[in-house]
Amino acid sequence: MEIIIAKNAGFCFGVKRAVDMTINELNSSRNHVYSYGPLIHNPQVVSSLEKDGLTTINSLDDINNGSIIIRSHGVPKSVKQRMEDLNLDLVDCTCPYVISVHKKVEDYSNKGYDIIIIGDYNHPEVIGINGWCDNKAHIINSKEDALNLPKMDKVCVVSQTTNTLEKFELLSEIVQTKANEVSLFNTICNATKVRQESVEEVSKKVDAMIVIGGQSSSNTKKLVEISKKYCNNVYHIETIKDLSLQDIQIFNTIGITAGASTPDWIIKEAVEAMDNLNNDEMMEAIESSFTRIHRGEVVKGTVLYVTDNEVMVNINYKIDGIINRDELSKDPDVKPRDLFKVGEEIQVYIIKLDDGQGNVVLSAKRVDDLKNWDVLEESFNSKSEVECKVLSVVKGGLTVLVLGINGFMPASHVSTSYITDLNQFKGRTFKARVIDLDKDKRRVIVSRKDVEKEELNKKKTVLWDKLELNAIIEGTVQRLTDFGAFVDLGGVDGLIHISDLSWNRVKHPSEILKAGDKVEVKILSLDKEKNRISLGLKQTVEEPWTLFKSTVNVGDVVEGKVVNLLDFGAFVRLNEGVDGLLHVSQISKDHINKPSDILKVGESITVKVIEINDEERRISLSAKDADSVDEAPEVIANEEVETTIEDIINNN
Ligand code: SF4
Repeated sequence: MEIIIAKNAGFCFGVKRAVDMTINELNSSRNHVYSYGPLIHNPQVVSSLEKDGLTTINSLDDINNGSIIIRSHGVPKSVKQRMEDLNLDLVDCTCPYVISVHKKVEDYSNKGYDIIIIGDYNHPEVIGINGWCDNKAHIINSKEDALNLPKMDKVCVVSQTTNTLEKFELLSEIVQTKANEVSLFNTICNATKVRQESVEEVSKKVDAMIVIGGQSSSNTKKLVEISKKYCNNVYHIETIKDLSLQDIQIFNTIGITAGASTPDWIIKEAVEAMDNLNNDEMMEAIESSFTRIHRGEVVKGTVLYVTDNEVMVNINYKIDGIINRDELSKDPDVKPRDLFKVGEEIQVYIIKLDDGQGNVVLSAKRVDDLKNWDVLEESFNSKSEVECKVLSVVKGGLTVLVLGINGFMPASHVSTSYITDLNQFKGRTFKARVIDLDKDKRRVIVSRKDVEKEELNKKKTVLWDKLELNAIIEGTVQRLTDFGAFVDLGGVDGLIHISDLSWNRVKHPSEILKAGDKVEVKILSLDKEKNRISLGLKQTVEEPWTLFKSTVNVGDVVEGKVVNLLDFGAFVRLNEGVDGLLHVSQISKDHINKPSDILKVGESITVKVIEINDEERRISLSAKDADSVDEAPEVIANEEVETTIEDIINNN
């Protein structure tokens, strides 16, 4: 004989919690412990607890002190108030699922809605729910009840938590025709739903179905109802003693399920009696009918309902999970309804197994976090780039946000250049590379410098391919040194040596250039291997000597400026880069001892060109003959001039 145990058979979360809290109270309290109504719909469990000291009462008039247990079904608001007024020690075991129905009903009733409860009029849970809207609810349990409802304006519909989905859907459809506005809440407990679905599945494939649970238990009766739809041999028993083992021996496959108030030991007893499974296997089977979950896990779930502040998710666990608003998304402005829809399948991260209210605490944003960590790890391994946003400047670097995860960028990794003030990066977004990552310690270190370096190298390669000897290109002066100026050509620096700055003599590059100047330069030499480029600034203009020669001839009278005075003569600048010598004997028709007798540096002077020596690039001038253009030029003896040039070199 094969035995199939349906998923979620036995104690649901709410009942187990109530039993555990009661046992705890019996063991720890000095008071007498009372239960307001039978603790659960299982006479065997109740009688066992009564043996341990629990007294079941049906009216508060019977007691005036002690501890009072509110069972998982809950009680009307007025009853709870009365218990408090009597100063009883309240042990509230109302199932959190039921509490949420109470809140809903109270809230909508206060907002002027008519309340409709789909459920059994006499069931304590329904009586309790009705007590949270001043007992004004319309309670419907059949099609006729629904059809007889009066016409209403706004209604709020809830369900007894152990209803079948089929009944809820059928009746709520009729209710929708009875009001102008209907707020519909499927408050069927997920444990019930899963149990009912599982019973349907098992009862379809077995020869006989055994349903274990109290005869007065509403949820057990519904399991019987469902089983009978799909299986011809259904046995509703409270314990194995109610079953004739001989009757079931004829079946090859038997399905077993149990109501929410049936403890494991009763199920175990039944299975043992059938002598088909040993204890361990049976317990394993029961245990394995529940999904196991752990903190830090990511599991799949289905959205049950969405409010302004939370999302309830069925994670196929014995209790449902809740995502609070602050765990929805990194974006604080996003609303639950923007993100999720009822029925949608989503992934959730398990933060806590129980929030104290009977819900598993879930997070949606941490799922994204985990995914992002995976992406970051991948990026770290493959050395690919990630985008990061600078959040703030801290000691030693910058805090950044990378794929929604906080990371750090050391100051030395911000740029290839030295940065004096990191504040300029605040709020900026740029590409970086993950250079260190520790998932467990949640540490990410990124570098922008690495990316910058790579970009520079790429630029350099492109630039080097473009550079040609003798080409004239534009650049920006980066910095000056005593020996020249470095010019950025768009990723590569070249050097203009001081001697290539100007055709004139230059003592320091700052006489010609300053950092930041845009300049046109000529490429004088290229050495890719050594990464050296020599540039010339003066080479971008025509050589002054050539220019002079093409415009001035011997005998021409020209204007110049005295730039230097020596004993043997004065140097006169005729053009930028072209100076001529005005020998002392050529300054005046009158006798003078030395040039400074009549000339001053900076003074403009008219002179006649009396000789141009192209080979030695020398020009001899005369001032005394400047007014005699037509006369033949006076020739100065070579010997005299040569002496003069040597003097120039020695004295200049
Ligand atoms: S059946 Fe659901 S609502 Fe009822 S007590 Fe159990 S867990 Fe709570």
